[in-house]
Amino acid sequence: MNQSAAAPIQAFIEGTSRPGAGAELPVIDPTSGRQIATLREDSAADVDRAVAAACRAFARSDWPRLGIAARQEMLLRLHDAILAHVPELAELECAALGVPMRDLLGMHLPRAAYNFRFFAEFIGQACGDVYDQTDGYRSLVLREPVGVAALIAPWNAPCALASMKIAAALAFGNTCVLKPSEQTPLALARLVEILHEAGLPPGVVNLVNGRGAVTGAALVDHPGVDLVSFTGGTETGRAIMAAAGRRLVPCTMELGGKSANIVFASADYDRALDAALAAIFANNGQQCLAGSRILVEKPIAERFIADFTDRTRRIRIGDPRDTETELGPLASAAQRARVLGYAKGAPAEGLTLLTGGGVPAGLPDRLAGGFFVEPVAALAPDNTARACREEIFGPFVTIQVFDGYDDAIGRANDTDFGLVSYVWSDHLPTVERATRDLRSGVVWVNTTMTRELRAPFGGYRNSGVGREGGEACQQFYTEAKTVTIPSRPTTSRRFGAG
Ligand code: NAD
Repeated sequence: MNQSAAAPIQAFIEGTSRPGAGAELPVIDPTSGRQIATLREDSAADVDRAVAAACRAFARSDWPRLGIAARQEMLLRLHDAILAHVPELAELECAALGVPMRDLLGMHLPRAAYNFRFFAEFIGQACGDVYDQTDGYRSLVLREPVGVAALIAPWNAPCALASMKIAAALAFGNTCVLKPSEQTPLALARLVEILHEAGLPPGVVNLVNGRGAVTGAALVDHPGVDLVSFTGGTETGRAIMAAAGRRLVPCTMELGGKSANIVFASADYDRALDAALAAIFANNGQQCLAGSRILVEKPIAERFIADFTDRTRRIRIGDPRDTETELGPLASAAQRARVLGYAKGAPAEGLTLLTGGGVPAGLPDRLAGGFFVEPVAALAPDNTARACREEIFGPFVTIQVFDGYDDAIGRANDTDFGLVSYVWSDHLPTVERATRDLRSGVVWVNTTMTRELRAPFGGYRNSGVGREGGEACQQFYTEAKTVTIPSRPTTSRRFGAG
């Protein structure tokens, strides 16, 4: 029953692995460029089977009706099961994604497990609302599971991101159908099996695989789906939200970013420099919350740009399985072509290439077919160039020099996105002002990427609609039902009584 990297990746419906009726798609190892697995794409009929299974589990299984203690116990069991399989899952994730093992073992997979613990603990503390301001009445708000959730995940952090969706959907009593990215299906296929080996009842979590336009679209359009949680690109988000809108199905959209990382002259210089590098080059540069637009204040700009460029040149590129590696391959040939294309077009758009933008030389022969790039830093006069406006989703950062507070905020907010902003300053009034003036869903001050799961996470403008996080997920994955009860007998107008 185990889905390994060598066996075809299949759907997992009602507790059983089954081959889809669609095309066979290759799964490529970005480190070598070689095919390492085959994925059986799920057709609309396969999706129908998966949604029907989730509907049956919602209507007939104990899951939506379980008491909180029993649900918590299962979520904690799922947490333990994932934690016990971290090395195996990290191998599978690395094989299709190319993110350094150090990050997968230290962050992605422990986070995937922790998401289940987090929601187990959250539902143990959550409480509801009571309104008694209307004399003689008490109204209480019950929170009930919505039904079948379609969970659609991207390729850049498959287990870490999809697990948040699964854990949240389950914690509030829903059942679900997960569709991972067709590029990176390996680890999630195994993770879904692990959940079942740990005792999750069949039908509560179902898995389908395939391309967005085929399997994903069939899932979003399915009449049995009651809500859609999507993480991915902005254009895909637009299409999915339009489809969900046609059926009036609620959705959350966690989309792209083009986040500003503002380094004021009042910053702790060394920390800001380290963090600016981490904010763009972690996860091979492929992260929605990357600090891809560095804005540095004039008095420190020359030194900062020189140091940043030097450090970028010295980043260790290589096999993601080596513990020394800081930057692995990009996740696909298309992703590499995209980054190289932006680098090539940069000078014509007024950018000065400081370093990178080519294919690294001197890698061992076994990596010759991999999708490696030299990390790019480019100087930009303003936000006009495409590289400053569009999400590149790779190790490519632009640096602008600003002159004073207003110039910094103006440049930072001059974007169609609004996911996160980074502020580096030890001057409290500057920090205080900036956190108010920046137009983004998250502002990280003097820190990089510290996700507080209790707090809402999501974006302004093209970076998304809705939020994820403890309370925000409760809002999304439950229906609010208001029950009003009089505290003494009521009298009604007596129609027909003469
Ligand atoms: P993508 O939009 O191409 O695909 C995401 C998922 O949607 C995949 O599973 C894909 O198969 C599916 N899909 C594509 N078209 C579909 C359709 N018409 N109907 C249903 N499903 C469809 O994104 P990607 O390239 O996998 O991921 C990169 C993007 O994700 C970047 O833009 C990045 O910023 C974003 N992202 C956002 C967050 C966040 O929390 N805001 C986190 C990670 C990634």
